[in-house]
Amino acid sequence: MWLTGLSASGKSSIAMALEQALTAQGYSCYVLDGDNIRDGLNANLGFSPEDRTENIRRVGEVAALFADAGLICITAFISPYRADRARARQSCGEAFHEIHISADLATCESRDPKGLYKKARSGELREFTGVSAPYEIPEQPQLAIDTAREDIAASVVKLVTYVERNVPLIRAIPR
Ligand code: ADP
Repeated sequence: MWLTGLSASGKSSIAMALEQALTAQGYSCYVLDGDNIRDGLNANLGFSPEDRTENIRRVGEVAALFADAGLICITAFISPYRADRARARQSCGEAFHEIHISADLATCESRDPKGLYKKARSGELREFTGVSAPYEIPEQPQLAIDTAREDIAASVVKLVTYVERNVPLIRAIPR
């Protein structure tokens, strides 16, 4: 489940809530996000276009391994470039589901939970997606969720329904 969208669109919040909801249904899940990937595996990467591409390439490969292991891997990365997402789709094959978390820039900027937009506007942070770096909107996502209009709970209901319809649950121990 590849969540893409602007900073503060809600990717991480939704990923965590979705993980909880799917786990309660009997799915095995794992969330990949900036916290567990950029601090470790990708600690040597920054935010230049080349590094963003390499960041997403590695996330795509790791997500493919998780999916191969039978887990639902939920990734929460801005992943602003179409070509990078297309490559992740290639790595994951049919298991790739692109979910556009699509709050508009003004909404994301008004949330600004980590103060990053403020820093980007003042020039303290460079190459910030939506402000001084591009975000290429998904053309044909499997699902788009506008978090300016829907709260986290409603978003999770949509996503769980999508997973139930599209990802068959194979129970290790049949009930
Ligand atoms: P991202 O991972 O996309 O950068 P985060 O999940 O870290 O975004 O931050 C989004 C912030 O917006 C959180 O503080 C969250 O509580 C808040 N928020 C407000 N409304 C929503 C919504 N409808 N969906 C998701 N997050 C929301």
